[in-house]
Amino acid sequence: MDNYRPVSFWFDSLDDPVLDLREPPAQVDVAIIGAGFTGLWTAYYLKKKQPRLQIAVFEAETVGFGASGRNGGWCMGTATGIEHMLSVPSLQAEGIRLQQALENTVDEIERVCQAESIDCHFARGGTLNVAGTPEVAKRSQQWVEHLHRLGFKDSEYCWLDQAQSEKRIGLSRNLGAYYTTHCAAIHPGRLVRGLAEVNRALGVQIIEKAPVFNYTRVPDGSLLLSTGRGAVRAEKIIRATEGYTESIQGQQRSMLPLYSMVVATEPLSPEIWQEIGLTRRETFGDGRRVVIYGQRTVDDRLVFGGRAGYYFGSKRRALIPATDKAVKIVEASARELIPALRDPALGETVFSHGWGGLMGVPRHWRPCVTFDERSRIGWAGGYTGEGVGASNLAGRIMCDLVAGEKSDLTTLAWVDDVPRRWEPEPIRWLGVKSIEFFGDRADRREANNQSAGIWGSLFNRFVG
Ligand SMILES: Cc1cc2nc3c(=O)[nH]c(=O)nc-3n(C[C@H](O)[C@H](O)[C@H](O)COP(=O)(O)OP(=O)(O)OC[C@H]3O[C@@H](n4cnc5c(N)ncnc54)[C@H](O)[C@@H]3O)c2cc1C
Repeated sequence: MDNYRPVSFWFDSLDDPVLDLREPPAQVDVAIIGAGFTGLWTAYYLKKKQPRLQIAVFEAETVGFGASGRNGGWCMGTATGIEHMLSVPSLQAEGIRLQQALENTVDEIERVCQAESIDCHFARGGTLNVAGTPEVAKRSQQWVEHLHRLGFKDSEYCWLDQAQSEKRIGLSRNLGAYYTTHCAAIHPGRLVRGLAEVNRALGVQIIEKAPVFNYTRVPDGSLLLSTGRGAVRAEKIIRATEGYTESIQGQQRSMLPLYSMVVATEPLSPEIWQEIGLTRRETFGDGRRVVIYGQRTVDDRLVFGGRAGYYFGSKRRALIPATDKAVKIVEASARELIPALRDPALGETVFSHGWGGLMGVPRHWRPCVTFDERSRIGWAGGYTGEGVGASNLAGRIMCDLVAGEKSDLTTLAWVDDVPRRWEPEPIRWLGVKSIEFFGDRADRREANNQSAGIWGSLFNRFVG
């Protein structure tokens, strides 16, 4: 690819990237595959800890080309799988520790952005999970009570009644909201590129247009990466390739690539924002299983995403055009959910951008960070669409693991929680399509004020 503007609104709002096409070094201490948040946070903390370490990040396209440059910009103080941990008594203590580490992660990202002058439009408005149906309202209230019983504070996790919630956000169905302060809205393109610049200034080499095809051990004991730009020897290798992991030889069933689609409007008028609200730039969703997510940008656009898609055989598409059917469905659901977007009295809402991106889903549906000291190979990821904040924590954990240091981070539940591989096709495709179907069915029943019934149970059984 040579034109990266269609990647996302975030990319289109920035200058064209100036690619680093220098020859890769023949040998490095640490080779990181993938210049998304995971790879770049890992490189950042490692280089800060051990400034003499020679670190090279290999990126198949350009910095932030994957999910990191395409997401909804929720920097969340939680992650996939935590709800389950907090619900099961035997996992609660570990779940609470992980949840607290993720809350601190939002602070940590804000701290680094300030310290390193990365202006990623960070706004800690928290997040509103609006209940559009009585079932979701009931579940959310019960969840807030459960969190309070576990010791989480009402000032940080609370239920807003209908009147309070309507003051914060104008949605067509708003019966109240679960609100948490632990989330910030960001411009992810600015964060990922800013992080790359900081890394380069520290001496990390980020080599773009350098796909890694495979890596092997050679007779002298070192590791050899075969890249599109030649062979490189490395002492240690970290894979940070998330939804693209199957591009590496031997990893075809490690991570399931699942698409999510996003749209962005032109900057909206003050009249429209008067109706929508989000004055603190709170991010928002509405508790359905096939998730939707939105944020108000610094320049008053609405960025709105949702819908998951899987293509047979884990097929990937470099770009999803704005005209794609699944993108159009997301646009329609934004108009349906937010009355101000379809009110002619407020003027026309123009959706200027539409795109899609790849999330990485591991077989157990929760993140993992692992580094094997014997093989000197590790990987981190599996955030299943909730990795903007989580990847920072993963990067810090990986840094300690690679440095061989025991710390509070290296005993968190993600460490060495290695998933089994996905099933071969066509079982994989059938499984994902069934989960999509169960989620859709359960959401539709709840939207019609019916219980999710068997569809909700089946969805939970597979997704956890
Ligand atoms: C549409 C969408 C919306 C999302 N919204 C949110 C959100 O609002 N909040 C949230 O918390 N999370 C969200 N996520 C998830 C979040 O963006 C990701 O979890 C996170 O960015 C993952 O970062 P990463 O560095 O692990 O992976 P990626 O950003 O995908 O980076 C992997 C990189 O590796 C490169 N690569 C892959 N294979 C190779 C190879 N063989 N050789 C060299 N390079 C390679 C890729 O080109 C890519 O740049 C969303 C994801 C998507 C797709």
